[in-house]
Amino acid sequence: MRDDLTDSPEHLRLGIDMDGVLADFHAGWMERYNERFGRQLHHSQVVQWDGLHRLTHFPTMDDFWVWAQEGGRSIFRDLPPFPGAIETIARLNDQHRVVIISSKFDWAIPDTLEWLAEHRVAAREIHFLWDKTSVACDVYLEDAPHHLEALVRKRPDAAICRMVRPWNDPVPGTVDVTDWDAFAELVDGLARGAPGRPSR
Ligand SMILES: [Mg+2]
Repeated sequence: MRDDLTDSPEHLRLGIDMDGVLADFHAGWMERYNERFGRQLHHSQVVQWDGLHRLTHFPTMDDFWVWAQEGGRSIFRDLPPFPGAIETIARLNDQHRVVIISSKFDWAIPDTLEWLAEHRVAAREIHFLWDKTSVACDVYLEDAPHHLEALVRKRPDAAICRMVRPWNDPVPGTVDVTDWDAFAELVDGLARGAPGRPSR
């Protein structure tokens, strides 16, 4: 063992969301849905956060989630990664602490862990939580409006990045990033300018 392995405080803690940020949830579930039910949904149809089931024949989101577990291999097992996501996470992981923070039902956790393993995501921390503010990070990358708002409220010293997607709108107090290259650039800048916790 090397003797210089430490949880070095000069590294930034990067709190990374999964669905809609790392994994393309909508492209993934729609591919399975289209095959199963002979439909032609396209991920570009998702332009708001709530009411996903209204794009489908399911009367409620509860029905959607029941289908999402069908066959013992849930939709979360087969989501495609977003372009550049896996490569960028690997690079950032060399210099910083990648902290996966994902809100998941219990039934989705094993498939999510298998997804992370399949894509060789070497995160040293993985949290499955409904309240993401309970994990302290220097930088967060998130697409869900309610999580972004909560992080702005409860983590005022962190850099909170909104991954810009058709289903979210600007959230005051967040920094917009449009893709993984933009996020890496932002993290590099924070790391250069302010070792430790970034200030805003
Ligand atoms: Mg998300």
